[in-house]
This record gives sequence, C-alpha cells and structure tokens, in this order.
Amino acid sequence: MTTLRTILWFVVAAAAMLGAVWLAERPGNVTAEWQGWRLDTSVGALMVAVVVLILVSIGLWLLYRWIVGAPGALLEGWGESRRRRGYRELTQGLAAVAAGDGVEAQKHARKAEQLLSEPALTLLLSAQAAQLTGDRDGAKKAFNAMIEDEQMAFLGLRGLIGQALRDGDQGKALALAERAFKLRPQTPWVVHSLFDMQAQAGQWKAAQETLDAGVRRKVVAADKGRSLKALLEVERSREAEQEGRAEDALSLAREAFGLAPERIAATERLAALQIKAGDGKKAMRTIERGWAVAPHPDLVPLYLEAAGESEALKRVGVVRKLAGQNPSDIESHIALAEASLEAGLWGEARRHLETAGGTNPPVRVCRLMAEVEERAQADPAKVHDWLAKVADAPADRSWRCTACGAHHEAWRPVCESCGAFGTLQWRTPGTYGQILPPEQQIALQAAPALAAPTGSSPPP
Ligand SMILES: [Zn+2]
Repeated sequence: MTTLRTILWFVVAAAAMLGAVWLAERPGNVTAEWQGWRLDTSVGALMVAVVVLILVSIGLWLLYRWIVGAPGALLEGWGESRRRRGYRELTQGLAAVAAGDGVEAQKHARKAEQLLSEPALTLLLSAQAAQLTGDRDGAKKAFNAMIEDEQMAFLGLRGLIGQALRDGDQGKALALAERAFKLRPQTPWVVHSLFDMQAQAGQWKAAQETLDAGVRRKVVAADKGRSLKALLEVERSREAEQEGRAEDALSLAREAFGLAPERIAATERLAALQIKAGDGKKAMRTIERGWAVAPHPDLVPLYLEAAGESEALKRVGVVRKLAGQNPSDIESHIALAEASLEAGLWGEARRHLETAGGTNPPVRVCRLMAEVEERAQADPAKVHDWLAKVADAPADRSWRCTACGAHHEAWRPVCESCGAFGTLQWRTPGTYGQILPPEQQIALQAAPALAAPTGSSPPP
C-alpha cells in the first residue's frame, strides 16, 4: 500500500516537473476579452492565479463546515458537562450511602436522576438511599423498577428478597429467590439462600436439585454437598415413613448413612428403622460404625434397644462393646460410666469419669461424679465438692450451629436461630465457627444475611 502511494507521488511529481519545464520552454501570453474588459497576462501568472483560486475555495469550504457544525459541537459540550455533573451527583450520593447518610444520599439521587439518562445507576442509588432513611415503599418501588432493567434485575431481586424476609413472608422470598437463581445460578448467596429456604419449607427434593446445581458449579464444596445430601435424605426418609412408605424410608436412610456416617442424624435414622424392622443385629452394626466416627449419647439407648438387653450388669458389657469402637473419645467413657452407675459399679463409674474429665472435667462429668458419690453413699462432702465445681467447669458438647453459634437442646435439620440447614454439630463451644477466621468474617458481611433478621442492609 505504502509503496504504491510512493510510486504514485513520484509519477505526479514527475508530471508536474515535466509540465513546468514544458511551460518554461514555451513562453507566451494570454489575452482575454469580455464585455469591454481586456486582460493581458503571461501563462505563468494565470497558472498561479488558478492555484490561488483553488486554495481560497478550499479555505471557504472549511470555514462553511466549521460554522454549520458549531451548534452541534456546542450542544455536545453542554451535554458532556451535564453528564459530568450527573456523575458527580451519583458519586456524592454513593459516598453518602457509604457514610450512612440517607437524607443526603436521597438528595443526590434525585439530582442525578434529573441529570443522567442512566436509570439503572440512579435506581440503585435511590434504592439504597430509601433503605437508609427507612423509606420501605420508596425502596420497594426502586427495586421493582430495577427488576424491569435487564442489567439491574438481579440486584432488584436481591433487595426484594431481603424485604420479603424482613416482612416474614417466606413464600414470597422463596419465589423471588427462585427467579434470582434462574438469572445467576453461579452466585453463592443465591444458591445458599434458595437451598436454605427450600429446606425451611420442607421442599427436600427441590433443595436437593439446588444443592446438586451448586456442587456442579463449584459454589458448594463437594464434601459439604455430600454431607448435606445425606441430611436431606434423612428428612426424606422421615417423610416417607410418615406416608407409610417403609421400604423407601429404609432405602433413603441407608443411602444417607452410606454418604455420611459422620452425621449422627443419619446413624440414628437408619438404626431406628432397622430396629423397627426387627433387625437388631444390623442396627447394632450401624451404630457401631457411626460411633467410630461420631459418637453421641443419643446412640447409646438405641444401641441397648437393638441389643435387647435389660439386665443392668449385662448392659455394661453391651456398652463396653460399643465404646470399644472409639475407646479414646469422651462419649465412650461417659457412656460406660453411666452404664456402670446403673449397675451399681461405683468404682468402675468413677474410673471412667476420671478418664473422661482429665485435669479439667466438664459440667457433665462433674454432675455424674456427684451422682456416683451420692449413690455410693460415700462422703457427703465429696458430693458437695463436685456440685460446686459445676459452676466453673468448662461447657459440655452440645448441638451448636456452625453458622450462627446458637445452642440447641436437640438435633434439628434447620437452625431455629439463623435458618441454615444442616449446620448443627455436636461440639464444645470454641470449636465451632462462632469466632470466624477474618476472611470468612468479611465474606459474611459482604453477603446479605437473608435468613437472619439483620443484614448488610440495615433494618428499617
Ligand atoms: Zn444458626
């Protein structure tokens, strides 16, 4: 391309040079006559005049273009400054939102709305400003308008879900979460919120589908997905049993236990159904396997029921077999101490409690020690000493929510305080996630606490 142009220039320059030489070799005059006017000039002067004429014409054309285009350019400049002012209002509004000044934010939102033709951005500001000032209707209006905008629909849904939850309208929140999930199935808070809401509503199958999608998109870790699936199957098994589908109930429980034998609820469910079906031996094996990975006091009576042993001394032997599956765990020693206590084996009971308690016995151990001393009718001062220790003893293991830290008397699939599904763990306080690592704390703050009454957006 460039070489072609260079060659062309050479040709033109050569032609011009040849023309000039040709003209110089042939000097002459030009005479023009018109309506009584007469012009005498040389050919060279005429050529110069023609070139000057062409240049002046080009100049006039450019001047004309500039004059015609000026109003447009002026308008453009004006629009530019308007837009700049609009964005300044928007920025100040967002700064006011960040500072928590709702009134100021609303003022800037209104100005930005007048100046900018960007409904999506100004709506977002208006919604946040309305939320800050506690203007629920204003916020709702803005969120609803955002739903109509393709880019903002997701944010609008998020706002409306938060409002529905604060209103206690679970059904509406669930329907909105389903819409949000359709829009962005890869967003973690959508997956988690929808899953928890479906579980709260007892929609186990739907929750399962959401969970599967979450695992597929790596929003839920595979290991956590497996454990939650097992707990969903435990609930489905309960449902099947209530509906009289004993076969389904048992196969679901078996699948749940196979997936997550470390979930005590799965062990309990399968063992209870096996006992009900008259298969005590199988139930005992189930509980032994469960005890090996996750022992829990509730499994002991179930194990004794499966063994069908009623004689106190023989029951100690039965519990010893169970404890043997996990001999170093505190639950094994406490279970043996309790069985020994029932059988009147005070020394045996004391020995297990001493092992269970170590140097700093927890509340349960102190209470049981007091009971042993009382029933053994030994020194009354010892009973008193053990009961006095209860006040300062470290807390026992209990059902605690790993999401919110709430304590529960018994296992339940959904945490009553935060609404999360499958978060209850049998633990001592301090070993659960109440004090979260910093990166997790930030994540929790960034996500809207949909299930909780308080969230990232302040309550009205
Ligand atoms: Zn909770």
